[in-house]
Amino acid sequence: MKSIATFSKNIFIPLTDACHNNCGYCTYRSESPTIMDRDSVLRLLKKGAVARCTEVLFTFGEKPEVYPEIKERLEEWGYSTIIEYLHDLCLDAINLGLLPHSNPGSVTRRDLELLRDVNASMGLMLESSSRRLCDAGMAHEKSPGKHPRVRLKVLEEAGRLEIPFTTGVLIGIGETDWEVIDSLAAIKEINDRYGHIQELIIQNFRPKPGTVMADLPEPPVERVISALVAAKEMFPEIGLQVPPNLNPGREGLFLAHGANDFGGVSPVTPDFVNPSDQWPSVERLRTIAAEQDFVLRERLPVYPAFFELVPERLKTLIASYASEDGFVR
Ligand code: SF4
Repeated sequence: MKSIATFSKNIFIPLTDACHNNCGYCTYRSESPTIMDRDSVLRLLKKGAVARCTEVLFTFGEKPEVYPEIKERLEEWGYSTIIEYLHDLCLDAINLGLLPHSNPGSVTRRDLELLRDVNASMGLMLESSSRRLCDAGMAHEKSPGKHPRVRLKVLEEAGRLEIPFTTGVLIGIGETDWEVIDSLAAIKEINDRYGHIQELIIQNFRPKPGTVMADLPEPPVERVISALVAAKEMFPEIGLQVPPNLNPGREGLFLAHGANDFGGVSPVTPDFVNPSDQWPSVERLRTIAAEQDFVLRERLPVYPAFFELVPERLKTLIASYASEDGFVR
């Protein structure tokens, strides 16, 4: 039987570009931040529903309320935090037939509890377990929310709450090869206890003009492959992804070394975090998969093995999309 490579048809909603972190490689965060109002979000959600997307990916900067202008807008709309606002937007998405997958950043257990009831799955990149990257002059020097202690705590709380979860590592931001393995081992240690990690992303750093790390080279592809091979060894059963839009021309190579997922591909919205790296078409992914003897299948934002963990209110929606083997019919 052929192996399966998956993708999810999604709509990407960049709720706000305000962020209390300031990572050395980021082009998403803004010094004059804005936040999308509910009407703008609804317009995008409706577009996604018409394009027959099944997933809505909510992404935003971490703790945007630290910006007075964002806090004011939220209060005007009746919310004290972005998480409360996101909760209601997830309900809007569900009412339109979309399954939310939120990337809320480093949040509290209470936040996770609130979001669990309206999300099919959630995500937070560990990026690295290396505390060294938070030292002066390193990528996460100005990013308290990227401290590994903070991120691993969120992964652990998500496990306690049985939330199907996506996480991953970022390769090429100053970590050593050993620290990559250590990061994967830290994720595995938590997953061995809770079994909630459904997907792991091995993401390669891409230098972006205008950032502090603009002159740092991309990591050699061999480092990405080594991390992928190690991840396959440690997590043989879960989805493994190297983002295809960050690696045009190398997608087949990664399938050959253990990847089995292409992640979210949107027919409606660009990748707002990596605006210069656009999604491949589904047809292109199908060709790449076939060349490696894989068959391409569309998946939901929650993997079939994790359907049982999904909140009751989403189970009917999932059943309406999923075929017997759990992939989209
Ligand atoms: S946490 Fe994300 S949005 Fe915030 S500065 Fe870092 S990369 Fe940018």
